[in-house]
Amino acid sequence: MFRVAYRQYIGEGIMHSQRVHLRGKNRYISQRFITHQSSGVISTSYRGVARFSPWSKRFSGSLRTRILLQSAFYAACIVGLTELANSYISRDTENTTEYSKTQYGSHKDLALAIKELREGLPGNNSVSTEPTTLQTYGFSEHSYHPSSPHSVVVRPNCTADVVNIINIARKYKIPIVAYSGATSLEGHTSGFSSGSICLDMSRMDQIIQINEDDCDLVCQAGARWEDINEMLKQKGIPLFFPLDPGPGATIGGMIGTGCSGTNAVRYGTARAEWFLNITAVLPNGEVIKTRNRARKSAAGFDTTKLFIGAEGTLGIVTEATLRLTPVIPTKVAMAQFPDVAHAVSAVQEILNTPYGSHIQCVELLDDHMMEATNIAGLVEHPYPVKDTLFFKIQGDSALIKGTSEIVQTIVQKHGSTCFKFAATDDEAQDLWQNRKYALTSTLAANPGTRCWTTDVCVPVSRLPQLVLETKMDLAESGLLSTIVGHVGDGNFHALILFRDNEELGRVSSAVHRLVHRAIALDGTCTGEHGVGVGKKEYLVNELGEGTVELMRMVKRAIDPHNLLNPGKASFDMTQTLRNILTTV
Ligand SMILES: Cc1cc2nc3c(=O)[nH]c(=O)nc-3n(C[C@H](O)[C@H](O)[C@H](O)COP(=O)(O)OP(=O)(O)OC[C@H]3O[C@@H](n4cnc5c(N)ncnc54)[C@H](O)[C@@H]3O)c2cc1C
Repeated sequence: MFRVAYRQYIGEGIMHSQRVHLRGKNRYISQRFITHQSSGVISTSYRGVARFSPWSKRFSGSLRTRILLQSAFYAACIVGLTELANSYISRDTENTTEYSKTQYGSHKDLALAIKELREGLPGNNSVSTEPTTLQTYGFSEHSYHPSSPHSVVVRPNCTADVVNIINIARKYKIPIVAYSGATSLEGHTSGFSSGSICLDMSRMDQIIQINEDDCDLVCQAGARWEDINEMLKQKGIPLFFPLDPGPGATIGGMIGTGCSGTNAVRYGTARAEWFLNITAVLPNGEVIKTRNRARKSAAGFDTTKLFIGAEGTLGIVTEATLRLTPVIPTKVAMAQFPDVAHAVSAVQEILNTPYGSHIQCVELLDDHMMEATNIAGLVEHPYPVKDTLFFKIQGDSALIKGTSEIVQTIVQKHGSTCFKFAATDDEAQDLWQNRKYALTSTLAANPGTRCWTTDVCVPVSRLPQLVLETKMDLAESGLLSTIVGHVGDGNFHALILFRDNEELGRVSSAVHRLVHRAIALDGTCTGEHGVGVGKKEYLVNELGEGTVELMRMVKRAIDPHNLLNPGKASFDMTQTLRNILTTV
């Protein structure tokens, strides 16, 4: 049967062949053959050559060799065509906007823009073209995606400066990339190859207004979440801002990526209503406020949300009104398990009890991560090296007691061998700090390595399967990794280590498999880190072409010249074509 199918395949494959009766047998011969035959002679030299062609009936090799040679030829054709198409696509996206044919500014335009930026922002070091600075800002130590240095770094002090910069960028058609804490992990702030203005927001870090009675605060976009909480503590204000992404992240970047962190189990993510108003400068230079300070509003579209997760592609956030929440007493507890699947499966049961809402955080550190924490030397006494859950439990002492009892009962049911509270506030602080410095500890425990951080998220009930399969896959691929996870949300990060390009290639393939596994489990390629450059290729698969096209329509309407952070998030018109080509 296979042979029959194969013969049909050959028959279809030779488009200009004809079936003829030759020496008592049916033969497929090419038009060229027939022309020769009509003159009475089938060339012997042709016959000789035909013995080496896997498409010829005279091929002297076996069927297997014939299939192999043909497959190799077709594979080479596909690779060649893909590369050719990619080179056209790259040229198109780099030199023109992705949806209009407007060219970005030339070198001369760039030089004129830099001159105007220097005139418009005269302060000390407000405009830099120092090569090391351009290189540092253009690349990220956390990302292995292609990048370029920026052409100029500018440091505005206020919204008016940002308007000025945007107007200059628009006049000369130079892309602008907003850059805040630079802790994003998917190449979000990388430079654009034909030239880009990097907008360093670090000088815009002022707290403008604290409204304690209303539980909110207005600040500039460059303020860091840790500084805001520290400032509230110093002032004796018993409120805090609960979004807690990477150390050093700022409000503008947190809005940009739609971040979350360890507190999301209790407080939700940036997409919950923690940002009441956003003040943003649009690509046309207009300054807008998305809302007033009222706690809720039903006035039209939720334009605040438009900027959350937009990765600096729709506007530059210059100020924001943050909703705050009361500081509640918390206790930190730790439970250890025989394996990661047992650890993760306990989580959903705990969160579904009536005490679930008193759990502020549930974090997983797998056995490799616990070992790395010990080796990195950040702990006074080494932890037992086991898959571990860290809990933050909130409330008054009666609630903490009740919640702790429930947690203890459930983790024991799921095989936990050890459950203990941090004895002192200092110990609790240390435990949590160790979780926050997981990346640093992983690298410190494995000198000479670099690390690729993944970010999939699935419905919590699917998490044990995903974590287990991922650990097996990484082990089979011979890759070292630690795993940490905001497992209360179904989100985990494999911190995969590599030393050289060969290992980096294996890491990249493992990450690809992990993302597809997560999407197949009704999950997402990114729970909190955002799309940047690294996750673009998965969006159509995860969301569907219609949803991605809706995003593109919004982008086209707001930024018709594609000046804001081009090539990031989901706005490559060409990405779909690239997906098709790479799946062929
Ligand atoms: C050790 C470590 C731990 C981390 N843990 C978490 C975690 O638990 N949860 C989590 O969500 N993330 C985490 N992250 C990722 C990172 O901290 C977040 O993505 C964070 O929100 C990025 O903020 P940033 O200020 O560093 O932004 P940047 O990296 O500077 O920028 C991020 C994006 O926002 C855009 N942007 C920046 N400023 C503005 C602005 N003013 N207006 C418009 N767009 C802007 C940028 O162009 C870019 O696209 C972690 C990172 C590290 C290194």
